[in-house]
Amino acid sequence: MCGVAYKGAGGERAPLITGVMEDYLKAIYRLQQAHGSVATSELAKELGVAAATTTAMVQRLARLKLVSYHRYRGLTLTPAGERIALETIRHHRLLELYLAQHLGVGLDKVHGEAEKMEHVLSDDVEHRIAAALGNPTTDPHGDPIPSPEGAIRDVRYPALTALSPGESGVVARVSDRDPATLRRLADLGILPGVRLKVLARRSSGCRVEVQGRPVTVPRTLCSEIYIQ
Ligand SMILES: [Zn+2]
Repeated sequence: MCGVAYKGAGGERAPLITGVMEDYLKAIYRLQQAHGSVATSELAKELGVAAATTTAMVQRLARLKLVSYHRYRGLTLTPAGERIALETIRHHRLLELYLAQHLGVGLDKVHGEAEKMEHVLSDDVEHRIAAALGNPTTDPHGDPIPSPEGAIRDVRYPALTALSPGESGVVARVSDRDPATLRRLADLGILPGVRLKVLARRSSGCRVEVQGRPVTVPRTLCSEIYIQ
């Protein structure tokens, strides 16, 4: 739900949750998944904003009881904060899939579009999009879509770099962060669901077979591809 997703406990007036706050909560969620707890400096870097701006927003989120701040351990989301982060992630990933499958938007563009639309999606339209897609559990990049109740599968796949020559697997997910990376992977035919076989590892990258065709994946991209 947009803007007012947070229902305060005990019937007090629900504070307005802005799109910017949702982006902070999502970023904290992402970093927390990777490192346990989150330093403010790390969060500022992730969001590309000044440290002072981040500190002010973190204090606001702490007052709303959406994050907890531990002096030596850094930030973590409270259950209420995590709920909003997961709802925003659900919006984002449903929108990406809808844009890709129903509107033909390229895989390199869906992330940027969904970043904007995720904050303004009503519950009703969210339900309709999910139903139109057959209540999917995976977005077009291969990331899990949280359930309407906020449950999410914890999926961690090894990167392509973990495979030895001769080994093969199916692309489970590709990182959704950089459109240029996604375009290069799409040009190479490397998308979720595609089977790969590692032919050789070279300093320039990984030589892989994709649909019967040998291609070289540049070294920087090998760690952006996750295999099942
Ligand atoms: Zn995305």
